[in-house]
Amino acid sequence: MPQDAEIIAVGSEMLTSQRIDTNSLYITDQLNALGVEVRRKLIIGDDRPLLTAAVQDALNHAGIVILTGGLGPTEDDVTREAVASALRRELVFSQEICDAIEERFRRRQRKMAEINKRQAFVVEGAEVLPNTNGTASGQWIEHQGRVVILLPGPPGELKPLFANECVPRLTRLLPAQVIRTRFYRVTGFTESDLDALIAPVYTKYTNPSTTILAAPGDIQIHLRARCGAEEDAERLLAEVGGPIEELLGTHLFSRNGDPLEAILGTLLRERSATLSIAESCTGGMAGERITSIPGSSDYFVGGFVTYTDRMKIDSLGVDPELIAQHTAVSKEVARAMAEGTRNRTGSTFAVSITGEAGPESSTGAPVGTIFVGFAGPDGPPEALRFAMPGDRPRIRGFATQAALDLVRRRLLKLD
Ligand code: ATP
Ligand code: MG
Repeated sequence: MPQDAEIIAVGSEMLTSQRIDTNSLYITDQLNALGVEVRRKLIIGDDRPLLTAAVQDALNHAGIVILTGGLGPTEDDVTREAVASALRRELVFSQEICDAIEERFRRRQRKMAEINKRQAFVVEGAEVLPNTNGTASGQWIEHQGRVVILLPGPPGELKPLFANECVPRLTRLLPAQVIRTRFYRVTGFTESDLDALIAPVYTKYTNPSTTILAAPGDIQIHLRARCGAEEDAERLLAEVGGPIEELLGTHLFSRNGDPLEAILGTLLRERSATLSIAESCTGGMAGERITSIPGSSDYFVGGFVTYTDRMKIDSLGVDPELIAQHTAVSKEVARAMAEGTRNRTGSTFAVSITGEAGPESSTGAPVGTIFVGFAGPDGPPEALRFAMPGDRPRIRGFATQAALDLVRRRLLKLD
């Protein structure tokens, strides 16, 4: 049996802007844990001919076809009929399901409506998957070496049904397989430069598969190995991951997907060191990220959002002469901000951000000019200049990342 799955989410509401399909995300996680990849997902309205055609097509290339939704009692719930047509099987009435639905209504002191009998029809040969949280039973159908699974749409019904009824059946059916992943995060590269660097390594392999996702100053590289045994998966990951790590060098800040602020937290904690921050153009974004990590009060003392020159002078003690001479967007002021922050908070390290986030420049420095200052116990304060590309949100995102990364580099004594 092909070990790939296709998920079809059924329901016209998901073709509007009001509802999105989340069931497939849950199902994908569960399937991946079993070593099954999802090759394609479809969202189809309550349209019987379209759905029939989609199921037929899915069976041509996927070993496991999972449908969610459209099992309700109303005319617009067409999943049962569409699957029966696609498999050229009949729908048969199940007295057992009918009794179970009636009993469910009785327990709630209600009478089953005639229309609910529609939910008692199953595709001929299907195994019924009992739904303890609703009236729509699931169905498990084996067909020419493939499996078609029908599941109710409401997530609160689908999840327990999938976990309790489908996972054990799939586990029996599938050869033992494991998926192991590596999740690298890198800063200081553009996506295209990074890809040019590592593509010669990863394109030689289809297993592990490689996915690259980019955000400002933060590129993620996911490696996924799929093997019969854990050792084989780990060996493949090492074979591809090793050379990639070497090429990434000190740009690589995370091997397990942790964000930069979490990495910083670990580094500071290991050194029993503290950090404070002064932000101008990022307005608190760096502080927000640092404090998003639980327990950050162990090493983050706090900081200043000093947006105007006056605040830089009054709160951080920056010399007005420096600002008059170099403007607030300068190496000199970034250094003085970091030093002032460290002096006023008593933290081990301090970092500062000042720059032009655009769209207009207030100092004459080109939009995207960012200075990150740093002050610590070893040596005089310093500042680095960056020219960040993009619009205001991108520039601010880059600036925040650059500041956190400078702290990482200094803590690790990297250049
Ligand atoms: P019911 O007996 O409740 O009618 P059903 O199987 O017919 O079950 P639907 O009518 O398709 O399910 O969907 C019921 C509700 O479940 C929808 O209102 C929708 O909000 C939610 N739902 C359906 N499909 C999905 C999905 N793929 N992801 C997230 N939510 C969904
Ligand atoms: Mg419904």
